[in-house]
Amino acid sequence: VALALLTCSFLSVAAGQLRPLPAAGLPGDLFNLGSIASRLRTDRDTTAKASTDFGRMVRAAPEAVLHPRTPADIAELIRFSASSPAPFPVVPRGQGHSWRGQSLAPGGVVVDMRSMARGHRVNVSAAAGAEPYVDAGGEQLWADVLRATLRHGLAPRVWTDYLRLTVGGTLSNAGIGGQAFRHGPQIANVHELDVITGTGEMVTCSRDENSDLFFAALGGLGQFGVITRARIRLEPAPKRVRWVRLAYSDIAMFTKDQEFLISNQASDAGFNYVEGQVQLNRSFIEGPKSTPFFSTTDLSRLAGLASRTDSAAIYYIEGAMYYNEDTTISVDQKMEALLDQLNFEPGFVFTKGVTYVQFLDRVREEESALRSAGVWEVPHPWLNLFIPRSRILDFDTGVFKGLLRDANPAGIILMYPMNKDRWDDRMTAMTPTADEDVFYAVSLLWSALSADDVEQLERVNESVLDLCAETGMECKQYLPHHASQEGWQRHFGTKWGKVAELKAKYDPQAILSRGHKIFRSRA
Ligand code: FAD
Repeated sequence: VALALLTCSFLSVAAGQLRPLPAAGLPGDLFNLGSIASRLRTDRDTTAKASTDFGRMVRAAPEAVLHPRTPADIAELIRFSASSPAPFPVVPRGQGHSWRGQSLAPGGVVVDMRSMARGHRVNVSAAAGAEPYVDAGGEQLWADVLRATLRHGLAPRVWTDYLRLTVGGTLSNAGIGGQAFRHGPQIANVHELDVITGTGEMVTCSRDENSDLFFAALGGLGQFGVITRARIRLEPAPKRVRWVRLAYSDIAMFTKDQEFLISNQASDAGFNYVEGQVQLNRSFIEGPKSTPFFSTTDLSRLAGLASRTDSAAIYYIEGAMYYNEDTTISVDQKMEALLDQLNFEPGFVFTKGVTYVQFLDRVREEESALRSAGVWEVPHPWLNLFIPRSRILDFDTGVFKGLLRDANPAGIILMYPMNKDRWDDRMTAMTPTADEDVFYAVSLLWSALSADDVEQLERVNESVLDLCAETGMECKQYLPHHASQEGWQRHFGTKWGKVAELKAKYDPQAILSRGHKIFRSRA
């Protein structure tokens, strides 16, 4: 009986359909809209699931969650809000894998994009003689895009490290990974988008058609519209990957080799993927004794290297070379020739042979290990920065050899360079403004294992940002978070005027993706 009463308090029966009871903060008429009323949920179970994100740093429940079946359902909701006397926030949520409340909608409606995934909206075009592409729904996981394209022997060219992210979610940021040095970020590999603007209009856009919306939406942090389809470039997929990590104790050698590997000079004979990691010295003593990549023996050798060289950290270049079975011999020769040109610590090469899918989906294994250890669903005060090449050694001195010298925060630190000319500055995504060809992505991917850790890691992040400001180092946030509009104006710099103008054009009531707190509601 108690369960029945509880259920009744969430739902009322109208016109033969189960309908949610109107939420106090939303116009009652919304719950009478024929097409979407039955797809809105206001029960506490549903709103609670949409009230936090991967970061677990912010909590705010929406008034309702929309489970759209088609893009038209989303357009209907947005049109209703935009034309209402008191417009309410509408926020698309992919996997909620952001970490500062970007996908939350207090006082409004979260659109659970994944509800459309059942429509399997992934269509590959591989006509002979034409460049292949895939049309993927904004709600699709990259893991599912991979599965569908591989059936045709094809795959997108650029990947994020983790594949359980949505197409719309990463394209709203940039989508970076170890292939970006060669092909640019994921946003540079898109031909066409379907976008529902903040007035509820469904628009197809590309470089030639409605181009201002196309460029605005790519890296647009969900500010200009909801991406419901993206046409993404494909290439022939390799079968196998040689995956290596090379250890360095000298940052100057590490960055020199990374920059060589992403240069045109090394490109053809080089890696298909280049990233890098920083492992702080203390973590060899206090951290895990093995990882999905390194065995216990590997880690104890690396610990020996760290203590012998008295370095504050060990740096790894992570590289991958793609090949097919019939080219095994030539991949070995190619690898040997490439490694001969690098300056890693002699003997510190760690190699794995894996399938292409195992390589792309490698973080899945880490996720499983972290889940079983109970440390996946913990707060993640992550900080991602883009730093001009000319300041990366200063950053290392100030942060890894300074602020973090005797620290051992739980988490992973990534550090790898990208070529700026592979980015299109007409898109909303920001890179450092310094007039340099190369910039580094540095990701401080912390896991807070206690409430004290959250505070401490937040202080570390603040100190890093203070150091950047005090030393005049341009540290542009990627997956950015700024608490004030002034912060956002600084973030966008000279692009701010254009961003504000496009916002006024495509989302005049400022109802979309308000979790970023870039624009105040005009209601
Ligand atoms: P959400 O977190 O749900 O949404 C993020 C923002 O995008 C919100 O503002 C939301 O409103 C908006 N949004 C969501 N869907 C749409 C849409 N269809 N149209 C318009 N706006 C939309 N990023 C990288 O670039 N490279 C990496 O290697 C990488 N690795 C990661 C690994 C892990 C374990 C995690 C948790 C994140 C990683 N990310 C990486 C960050 C990731 O790109 C962002 O979190 C991104 O937001 C995707 O997550 P999501 O699909 O869950 O989007």
